[in-house]
Amino acid sequence: MNKPATSKDSWKQMMEAVQAFHDKHQFRENGGEEMNYRIALMAEELGEISACVTKGKSREALAEEVADLLILLLGTAIAQDFDLNQAFWDKMEKLDQRQSRIVNGRVRVSEFRDMK
Ligand SMILES: [Mg+2]
Repeated sequence: MNKPATSKDSWKQMMEAVQAFHDKHQFRENGGEEMNYRIALMAEELGEISACVTKGKSREALAEEVADLLILLLGTAIAQDFDLNQAFWDKMEKLDQRQSRIVNGRVRVSEFRDMK
């Protein structure tokens, strides 16, 4: 049986929560949806994720920083007015067609253009 529409794992609910956050702080009117600024914020959060790994912080701390980045990613879809849910599934379909290779001991899924 399907969960109710208010489920916390619903993409729609997540997007509405981020939209409400943008509206509450008037992001659009006050530069919070400007892309250069958003890229800097996303880089900042990626650095915080990195610090969790390199400093051996807890899984909970890592989860919080990944959530920070996810909220910024959802907000970027709002700022730039694209359907991130559709983009996700379109990209997963492409990735599903690709081959993987072991590169320097690690798996890599790519088109491997201009490579033997
Ligand atoms: Mg953070």
